[in-house]
Amino acid sequence: MDCCGHEGRSGDARFDIKPVADGVHVAVAAPAYKVNSNTAIIESDDGVVIVDTHSKPSAARVIVDRLREITAKPVRYVVNTHFHWDHWHGNEVYPAAYPEAEIVTNQLTREAMVKKGLKRIRDHVRQVPAEIAKLEADLAASSPAQRAKLEADLALARSYLAEVKALRPALPTVVFEQTMTLYRRDREIHLLHLGRAHTEGDVFVYLPKEKVVITGDAVIGWTPYMGDGYPEDWVGTLDRLAQLDFTSIIMGHGAPAGRDWLATFRGYIHDMVEGVREEVATGATLEEVKQRVPARLAPTYERPFSAYGDYRPWRQGLLANIERTYAMVS
Ligand SMILES: [Zn+2]
Repeated sequence: MDCCGHEGRSGDARFDIKPVADGVHVAVAAPAYKVNSNTAIIESDDGVVIVDTHSKPSAARVIVDRLREITAKPVRYVVNTHFHWDHWHGNEVYPAAYPEAEIVTNQLTREAMVKKGLKRIRDHVRQVPAEIAKLEADLAASSPAQRAKLEADLALARSYLAEVKALRPALPTVVFEQTMTLYRRDREIHLLHLGRAHTEGDVFVYLPKEKVVITGDAVIGWTPYMGDGYPEDWVGTLDRLAQLDFTSIIMGHGAPAGRDWLATFRGYIHDMVEGVREEVATGATLEEVKQRVPARLAPTYERPFSAYGDYRPWRQGLLANIERTYAMVS
C-alpha cells in the first residue's frame, strides 16, 4: 500500500486500506502519537457510507483523498460509533467535501457529544500546551537515542493543537434510538444500539448479507479504554452482538478480526470484572485488587492483548480497567 504521498499534514495519519467484503473496506489506522480510529468504507449503488472520522480533520482528508481512488460515488452517510474525540473530530471534512452527506449516530451518543465531547475539545485546547511544554523540556534533557522520537511527538502535538483550536465540530444531523436500517439496492446496512459497553451510546454497524460487523471501540485490538465505559454491562452487550450472524469484525482500533477475537475480548472483560468483584467481596483494598487480578489474568490474556507491543501496553490498560471497575462495584 502506498502511504507517504497520502500522509496527513500532521504526518501521522497513515492508513492501510484493505477489502473486507465486496465493496466493503477498512482503513486501518497505523498506531500514532495522537491515536486515530479506523474507518469502514461501505460502497452502495448510490453512494458511500463511512464509519468514524478519526481524531482530526487532516486524517479524515487523507481518507477522502484515498476514497477517490476507490470510487467516484459521493459519501452519503457518515456514522459515528461513539462520542470519543478520535472517532468524530474529523466529521467536518465530509459535509465540506460532500454537501449532501448526513452524519448519523444514536440519540445517546449525540447527547454525549453535546454534553461532554464539546467540553473535551475546549479541554484539549487548554491542556495540549502543557503537553507540548513537557515534551520540550524532555527534549532539552534527552539523550541522543531519545531525541528523534521526542522531536516527532513534539511536532505531532503542535500540529494537533493547531487543528483542535481550528476545529468546527460537526454534530450528527440524524439520530436513532435503538436501530436504523439503510436499505440500499445492493445491500442492507443496520445501525444498532445493543446496550452500554465502551460508552452509554455505542453504535454497531451490521451488514447481514456480507456477514460483517463494525464495532467502534466496544471491541478493539488492544486493552479497551473504560474511562467512560460500563464494565459490568459490557459483556451482556457483546453477548447480544455475538447473536448476530457475522464472520468479520472491523474494530475501532487494530486489524480486522474474526469471532475468535470477540470471544477472547469478551473473556478478558468478563474475567476482569468477576476478578474485581470476587476480591471486593473478600474486603480487598484497591491496591490488593491491582496486585491480585493481573496475576490471575496474565496467563490467559497478557499475550493476546500485547499484539501491538509497547503501543497501549496491556498491564497499564488493565490497571486502569481495574480502577474503573473497582469504583463501580464497591
Ligand atoms: Zn473510544
